[in-house]
Amino acid sequence: MAAKVYINGTFYEQEDARISVFDHGLLYGDGVFEGLRSYGGKVFRLREHLDRLWESAKAIHLEIPISHQEMTDAVNESLQVNGIDDGYARLVVTRGVGTLGLDPAQTSDPQVIIIADRITLYPEEFYANGLKIVTVSTVRNHPAALSPRIKSLNYLNNILAKIEGKQAGCIEALMLNHKGEVAECTGDNIFLVRHGELLTPPREAGILDGVTRQAVIELAIESGLAVHEIPLTRHDVFIADECFLTGTAAEVIPVIEVDSRSIGDGTPGPITRDLIEKFHRLARA
Ligand code: PMP
Repeated sequence: MAAKVYINGTFYEQEDARISVFDHGLLYGDGVFEGLRSYGGKVFRLREHLDRLWESAKAIHLEIPISHQEMTDAVNESLQVNGIDDGYARLVVTRGVGTLGLDPAQTSDPQVIIIADRITLYPEEFYANGLKIVTVSTVRNHPAALSPRIKSLNYLNNILAKIEGKQAGCIEALMLNHKGEVAECTGDNIFLVRHGELLTPPREAGILDGVTRQAVIELAIESGLAVHEIPLTRHDVFIADECFLTGTAAEVIPVIEVDSRSIGDGTPGPITRDLIEKFHRLARA
C-alpha cells in the first residue's frame, strides 16, 4: 500500500510528496525530527515527543509554523488515513527553502512533514536472546558543540558510529562521550543492572533524553528498583549483571555481549525481562 504523506496540511501520495532541493533540511541537515510509535491506534507519549520536538526547534532557532494541537491532530490523521494501528510515524520540520548560503535568515516556509509507516523491528530473536554490541571509536558529539539533546536532521555522528558497528557485525553500537564515558547507542539509550539496581548515564553525559528511557525509569521506580543516573565507563558495562537498550523503535531490548565480554551469564537477565514485559503492558494500556 502506497503511503500518504503529510506536508504542510495536505496529504500527498508517496510519489508526489516532494521537497525542494533548496530546502536547508537537505542542504545542511538544518531541521529537527521525531520518531513516534502507535499502539492500537494511539501514539505512545505523544506529548513528550512533541515537547522534545519543540525544544529541539527552539535550540536551533526554528519556529514550528503550527501549534502543538495542530501537530497532534496531523499525526493522528496521518495514522488514520494510512490505516495504521500499530506503527511508526516520522515527524520532520525543515528550515525551508533558502539560498545556497548557510544563513537561515535567507530561508522561508519551514516544511512540516509526517510519514506514517509500518514498524520494522529488530528481528524477534534479538528480543529473546539479546544483542551483541561493540564500542565504536566515533565519539558522541561534544554537548558544548552540538547538544545530543537536539534531535536534528544532522545525524552523521550516529551514522558514522552505525557504519562502524555494522563493519564489526553488530546492528547497534555503543558510543562514548568526549570524556570517555558511556553515552548511548547510535539510536538507543543504554541501561545496566548491577546488584539489583538500575544504572544509566545522566543527560549531562551527552545523550538524547529518550522518551522510552524516561518511561523505563518510571516503570523501574514503580516496581521498587533504585535508579541511578550516573556517569558510567566501559568497565561498568563489562561488570554489569544485565544490560539493555531503550528506544521508540527498539522498545526495550536485551544486550548479552559488549566488546566480546559476556554481560552477566550471557543471557537476558530477569530484571530486563521483567521491564520488557512491563513496557509492553504500558505501551498497550
Ligand atoms: N538516542 C538516540 C541517539 C536516538 O536517536 C534515539 C531515538 N531513536 C534514542 C536515543 C531513544 O530515544 P526515544 O526513546 O525517545 O526513541
